[in-house]
Amino acid sequence: MDHFIYRNGVLHAEDVALTEIAASVGTPFYVYSSATLTRHFRVFDEALADMDHLVCYAMKANSNLAVLKLLADQGAGMDVVSGGEYLRAKAAGVPGDKIVFSGVGKTRAEMELVLKGGIRQFNLESEPEMYLLNKVASELGVTVPVTVRVNPDVDAKTHAKIATGKSENKFGIPIAKARAVYAEIAKLPALEIIGIDVHIGSQLTDLEPYRHAFEKVRELTEHLRADGHTIKRLDLGGGLGIPYERSNDAPPLPMDYGKVVRETLGDLGCEIEIEPGRLIAGNAGLLVSSVIYRKQGEGRDFLIVDAAMNDLVRPAMYDAHHDIVPVLEPAAGTETAPVDIVGPICESGDTFTKQRQMPPMQDGDLMAFRSAGAYGAVMSSEYNSRPLIPEVLVQGDQFAVIRPRPTFDEMLNRDKIPEWLAD
Ligand SMILES: *Cc1c(COP(=O)(O)O)cnc(C)c1O
Repeated sequence: MDHFIYRNGVLHAEDVALTEIAASVGTPFYVYSSATLTRHFRVFDEALADMDHLVCYAMKANSNLAVLKLLADQGAGMDVVSGGEYLRAKAAGVPGDKIVFSGVGKTRAEMELVLKGGIRQFNLESEPEMYLLNKVASELGVTVPVTVRVNPDVDAKTHAKIATGKSENKFGIPIAKARAVYAEIAKLPALEIIGIDVHIGSQLTDLEPYRHAFEKVRELTEHLRADGHTIKRLDLGGGLGIPYERSNDAPPLPMDYGKVVRETLGDLGCEIEIEPGRLIAGNAGLLVSSVIYRKQGEGRDFLIVDAAMNDLVRPAMYDAHHDIVPVLEPAAGTETAPVDIVGPICESGDTFTKQRQMPPMQDGDLMAFRSAGAYGAVMSSEYNSRPLIPEVLVQGDQFAVIRPRPTFDEMLNRDKIPEWLAD
């Protein structure tokens, strides 16, 4: 459930008409619902309520400071994958002891930054990384709590670009090698083993891969404890999918995911950590765009809109589906016809959808791409010198721009002409 509904014939975000935001900030723009973000965080928090747990929002899904602050105020921790994300989490007021550092290629500079600022735990992904972290932490005179991200070799049955738990992926350490790696870490004085980490992919629509992976984590917990290691925290990653198509079967609910966690790992006496991103932010956001031209091709109609692949890359990158709806509600019984909805960028890949059944739309009409709150704004670029589009947060009947559209001057002034080229 989200808070984007038609009222009096106009699509609203909570109590604000999207036509009002469009008139104020111009299109295209992203808009997020506070109530939906809060609700999704709480659903996860409640799903694990009877276990010692922390929900660490995977902020790569949507890292706007206002979104982070809203979730942090609910008690969320953060899962970060770069120094920049760490600084954003800090700027949003999240204390270091609620920030987890994940990622396959943490640099020395990032390690130093995070160790100086305070961190809950490092999720290690390779042997060279653990030796470097031990060195950096020793130099700084600190001890770091660590887990190892194990690759359980399960098929998450999701899109190849977002599956991470098979042995051929670049992530983590093969679970079969884990005991040897933990034995090696135990010899490193600046690292303190506290648990195990696993994350098998994103947009999972089935709980069975989770059950399979968690059973392997359970077995590993028992082995590592027998080897004399302290395993008191299990980080289970994120990845629960969302319904991008309303007409399709709904993916599992966090409550059912919580049940799988409890059944497989609940009696180990471990603190449970999870890192959902998409399920918290995805359906909490829309991309609103307007039609520039309606163009009739040969046997094919196009709606050329003012948003493009640089603003929302998911369709071009993952063949992703987004439901697209007109902001003005079509009258009951309005006929639909197939159209291609495309952006203005000079790439055939700048196509949001082909032959989508849509009600008639004209130049200037507004449309909303649903489920665009995660991996939308964060993946945008200024390709074709199109300035980053604004992000807007709604709460009840209020809205605020939480990232303004840069001016053309701001965009141009980032480039510098070297002296030898200057006139
Ligand atoms: C991307 C990622 C997540 C979040 O995945 P979602 O599908 O957005 O829930 C969590 N943990 C790690 C390590 C990730 O890389």
